[in-house]
Amino acid sequence: MKVRFWGTRGSIATPGPSTNHFGGNTSCVELTTEEGALLVLDCGTGAARLGAALMARGKTPIRADILLGHTHWDHIQGFPFFTPAFVPGNSVAIHGPDGSRGSLHHVLQGQMEYTYFPIELGQLAAAISYHDLNEGIHTIGGARVAAQYLNHPATTLGYRVEADGVAVVYLVDHEPFADSLWRAGAEPGRIESILHDGDRRHAQFMAGADLVIHDAQYTPEEYPAKKTWGHSTYEYVVQICAAAGVRRVALTHHDPAHDDHDVAEIERRARALASSGGSELDVFCAYEGYEIQVKRRSPLEPFVSAEPFQASLAKRRFRILAVDDHADTLALIVRALQTEDQYLVSKAASGAEALRMIGEQMPDLVVLDYKMSGMDGPAVISALRANPATHLLPVLMLTSMADEPSTRAGFEAGATDYVTKPFSIPQLTARVHACLARTQLAIAG
Ligand SMILES: [Zn+2]
Ligand SMILES: [Zn+2]
Repeated sequence: MKVRFWGTRGSIATPGPSTNHFGGNTSCVELTTEEGALLVLDCGTGAARLGAALMARGKTPIRADILLGHTHWDHIQGFPFFTPAFVPGNSVAIHGPDGSRGSLHHVLQGQMEYTYFPIELGQLAAAISYHDLNEGIHTIGGARVAAQYLNHPATTLGYRVEADGVAVVYLVDHEPFADSLWRAGAEPGRIESILHDGDRRHAQFMAGADLVIHDAQYTPEEYPAKKTWGHSTYEYVVQICAAAGVRRVALTHHDPAHDDHDVAEIERRARALASSGGSELDVFCAYEGYEIQVKRRSPLEPFVSAEPFQASLAKRRFRILAVDDHADTLALIVRALQTEDQYLVSKAASGAEALRMIGEQMPDLVVLDYKMSGMDGPAVISALRANPATHLLPVLMLTSMADEPSTRAGFEAGATDYVTKPFSIPQLTARVHACLARTQLAIAG
């Protein structure tokens, strides 16, 4: 499989002499399989030059599968400038997560409205199709593509593309699920020793990959001020990739505030960290124009998902019960979730009230505070897990306790996800969506 980087910048295009080496265009990566299938990962401003290059190569008609991780600006802005979409006879299939407000088609139509752009989406001459994706295994462009939710303040998918006997994994716009990667007392550097279920699932998703392309926007010094913004540090990426037995990792989604010297320094520090940990992981910072031929080294171990499914969440409304003994926090959670038409939110001010309400009407998901007077969060989960009727009821624990013992206790009690305060509303919405999608599909399957 051939991989070429067309855009490596995060957030906003940053052209100029100080970003000449690593590049100023936003996210876009071209994958070409041996059979000639073209997969485009994200459509940031880098997609404009990719489009021009495809036209210049003169191979017609052009057939492209575009995989969008999510629809924030820096991942879609290049699409209106992707020339092959303007040419009759070409075909472009666009895939992206089901979970934004409105369908993928609707969202992309928005950025090409008359107010913003002279040509509307419906006027494009190529055959364009839209495919809302969920977690699971899909076949796209002849490749086996696994999709899994990332941790970002928007519903965002990571993609694992398996073709030609290799696996290339694209994990862009993602931040760690927990402050500490490792469980206390466990041997660090192993997938089983990862503290948070979300981070462990993330590691399993990239396990054994030949190339991982991963968000590494911040340095560890910058990260605390940018928590909940949905981006990683090279430190997290190097550690998790090494534990997952990844062969090569490309750090990308470079911060617009970082010039070439800063990004080169990140690369130097990331390499030093990888070699100090004794891993053979090859780390580099992706730059525009860089092309890699990913060659098969050993038989590919295909990713096995716990639930191989494809279904949609968009078809019905979900009941969510929010439980917190602080009236202010409870009101904030309810307000945050009620902005989604899909959710019917009710509230309980104590653990006992929550159990009573669940007994009367079963919700689809419980958002539960950890520390409450009387019956606390873990006690509520234990009661739910002990009852066959609520044994599988998904519970998202929302807590100000980000420390290792509390996180571990939350999962040991049976929490489905563990989100720490302060959280942002978009982040909570994305986590609720992922939790519902995963558990609903598991129940349906
Ligand atoms: Zn981004
Ligand atoms: Zn984003």
